[in-house]
Parts: sequence; structure tokens; C-alpha cells
Amino acid sequence: MGADSMRRTGAILLVILGGAALWWAGNGAPASASANDAMVATIAAARERAAANDPRLKGASRFEEGGWIYVHLEGDPGAVGYQHGYLLAPEIEDGFAAVSAGMIHATERDWEFFRKAAHEMLWPKIDAEYQQELQGIVEGLRARTGSKLDVDDLVAFNAFEELPDYYVPWLNKRQKEANAPNLKSPGNCSAFVATGSWTKDGQIVMAHNNWTNYRNGERWRIVFDIAPKNGYGMLMDGFPGVIASDDDFGINSDGLMVTETTITQFEGWDPNGKAEFVRARKALQYAGSIDEYTKIMLDGNNGGYANDWLLGDRKTGEIAQLELGLKAYKLWRTKDGVLAGSNWARDTKVLKEDTPQFDPNNKDSSPNARRVRWEELLNENKGKIDVALAEKMLGDHSDTAEKKEDANERTLCGHVDGSRRGVKEWDWQPYYPGGAVQGKATDATMTKEMRIMARMGHPCGGDFLAKPFLAAHPEYAWQEPYLRDMKAGPWTEFRSGQTPKE
Ligand SMILES: [Zn+2]
Repeated sequence: MGADSMRRTGAILLVILGGAALWWAGNGAPASASANDAMVATIAAARERAAANDPRLKGASRFEEGGWIYVHLEGDPGAVGYQHGYLLAPEIEDGFAAVSAGMIHATERDWEFFRKAAHEMLWPKIDAEYQQELQGIVEGLRARTGSKLDVDDLVAFNAFEELPDYYVPWLNKRQKEANAPNLKSPGNCSAFVATGSWTKDGQIVMAHNNWTNYRNGERWRIVFDIAPKNGYGMLMDGFPGVIASDDDFGINSDGLMVTETTITQFEGWDPNGKAEFVRARKALQYAGSIDEYTKIMLDGNNGGYANDWLLGDRKTGEIAQLELGLKAYKLWRTKDGVLAGSNWARDTKVLKEDTPQFDPNNKDSSPNARRVRWEELLNENKGKIDVALAEKMLGDHSDTAEKKEDANERTLCGHVDGSRRGVKEWDWQPYYPGGAVQGKATDATMTKEMRIMARMGHPCGGDFLAKPFLAAHPEYAWQEPYLRDMKAGPWTEFRSGQTPKE
């Protein structure tokens, strides 16, 4: 008997002994609540010990640094999922509570509605590999905490960027729902990718800050290092319990570099398509070129979480922008140029067919004001762009509409909680607690070595404090159980295969 199986036998024995203790308590002295509590604790401890010895955890690890939680996951899909669920169990339970509350609040639909959509519409079209990984997450989570979440909960949760803001408005329109809530597709993120004469070393530089509500954003603090049995190794930021980066920023071991910004005022959904979170994960795992990436994203495009994907291939020095609408899409590519994003579509066909409400000429809107700032900033720094400069750009507070420094909804580092205007294009009301919640940057050399830089919190280093915010803005009181302080950490380097510092 090896040490592993001895530990397992010991753990099983503990469960049996724990059960005997309950029987004893039930039959002996008057049943007391404290005896029962002790019993529950004993079973929980035994379950945790048994789970910790599961052979599927082999090779997995977790550590925390700079405000981030880094996890290394490896093996077949079921093992990758089990490790994810086990290592991040407390964060998944907490993230699920915050995200599901937001989905229910915004759509005025109950959670059963989302479970049904996940089960009937999304699950049948998820590749077997990712079904196994999602099932593995549930098993790891349950083994660790005794969680009641099942795979339908997890699939609906993984689709949190696509079900509430793409599927539900499409459904409301179709069912001619009276008094349907005003749901808008999100406008997440500021990003760029540059190459050739634009960068200091002539190779690719890529940077991204994640815009979302602070409730979710404060929890978007995972660095996933995944070595899957099939496909390429991946290093990406992400959300606990979700299999895609989802904000998105990632690199793979074949040299593909991926980020995106979301298309403002996008409308459309195809119920027969494949979930976006599955396509995005698959593309990062299996694409070794810009063409392969595009092919995977187009296969079964459901219109969910429609993005302008910014791509780089460090092997060729080529960068690309895939503007992925549902009715239309366009791919631009170059070996000497810069492509930036701040939530605006630019292809005339995509603008006309997929974002009919978006006004590309309104210089006061968040997407367009940031577009002007990216043009200024990138042109001023042509030939000098590197990772250190990219980090500074992600924290930029220049408002091009008012021509002054003022951290608000129009600055690359967004602080919408400081804006009396909010962002009407995304239905973000005045002083909405949302904006840039973290930033990442990398270049071709770092990608070759599977390294990225990441900063948790506002990329400028500013802190968001929940208590004074809620006191000043009681209209957001419903978020109180979930809204936390979001304090900025330092820019921190992470690499594939990293182990915790002793
Ligand atoms: Zn800032």
C-alpha cells in the first residue's frame, strides 16, 4: 500500500468513525445541537482530507502574490476541472454568489431561468472536453466544501457575460415582453497590441485593462497556468470557476497572444450557436496562428459577448483585430502597426448590422473619448512602446472630451464611480461602481518564456472603498452584501510553472 492510498484509507476510516459518533450521539445522551455541530465538522474535515488525497490533484498548486491568486492546473480535462474546483472552492462559492445576484438583479429573471438556459441551450453544444472540465470543477468544489452547486449552475455562471446581456434582451424582444428591463451589452476594457516600428524592440507588445462592475471586478483576481493534456499550455487571468479568461487576456505556449475589448451596443443572439466562453477557451488552447484563432471563434458563433479581438503571433510578429459581430465580422492584420480597442466597432457592416444604436461620432461617449486618447498616446510614443510604458498607459487619466486630467468614464483607466454622467450606452447610471478593475501586459519575449505582468485593482494604483461609496450612493445599496474594497496591488510578474516564494 503506497503512502497515498494509506492516507485515503485513513480518511475513509475517519468518515466511518464520524458516522459512528453520530449514531452514538443519537442513541445515547439527549441529542444536543453541539454534538451535531461537532459531527458535521468531523465529517467536513474528513471530506476535506479525502479530497486532498484525490489522485486528480497531482501536479496542481496554488499561491497568492500581489493581490492575485495563482493556480497551476494540469492533465486531462476532468483533472484540470477537479483541480480548479478544489483549489479555488471558497472563491468559486463567493464569486458565484456575487455574479448570480447581479444576473438576477439586472434581468429580473430567477436563477432557475438561467439554469434552464444553460441546460437546454448551451450544454448540448459544449465540446465533450469542456463538459468534462466543467463537471470536474463541480466535483472538486463539492469534495472540498460540500457545495450544493451542480453543473447547470456552473454552466450558467460561466456564461455570465453572455446570458444576461445578449440572450435575455434577444428573448425579451422576441417574446415582446412588456416592461422588460433596459439591458445593454457591456463595454468592457481598454487594450492595444502593437508591432514593428511602433515598439521599442520591433516585436509585439500587448496590454489590457479589464472594465467591469467593481462587485465582479474585485473577484477577477485569478492567474490560471494550465498545462492541458491536449493543446497548448496557457497563462491567463480569470475569474474563479470560469474556464475562459473572460475579460480576456492570455498567451499560449505556441506564441499566440490574445486580448479583446467588448463591442458597445451590440445586439443579437443565435440560440443554436456555441457558448462564447467555450469558443474563447478553445481558441486560446488550440490556435497556433491568427487564422486558426479566427476559425475557432467563427465556428458556431452565437453572438454572445461580442468582442473586438486583438491578437498577436510572436512567431511572425504579426498582429490582428478580429471584429466579431454576429451578422458581420472583419479581420485586419499587419506586421507594422498598432491596433487599439475601447469598446467601439469600426467596420461599416458590423456598425450597421450588429450595433445599429451606436454613434461612432459622439466624442463625449466613453468608447469614443478613449479611442481618441489611444490614438494620441500611441502616436506620441511610436517606436518607444514597451511593457513598462504600456503599464503606464493602462493607468492614464486624460479625458479627451474635456481636455483635462480627470479620472472618469472617459479615461483609459476608468473610474465611473466618480462620474455624474455614468455611461448611458451600457446603461451604467451616474456614479456606477464600475471601471478598470485590473491590468495586464506582456511582449513577444515574455510570451516566449510564458510570462505576463499583472496589477490587481485600478491600473493607476487608486483604491476603491466600498463603505464610503455606499454611504454616498444609497441607490446601489442592493450591492452591499457583495461590494468590497478594491485596493490596488503592485505590478507583479507571473510565469508558467511558477512556484510560491519560500
Ligand atoms: Zn485610474
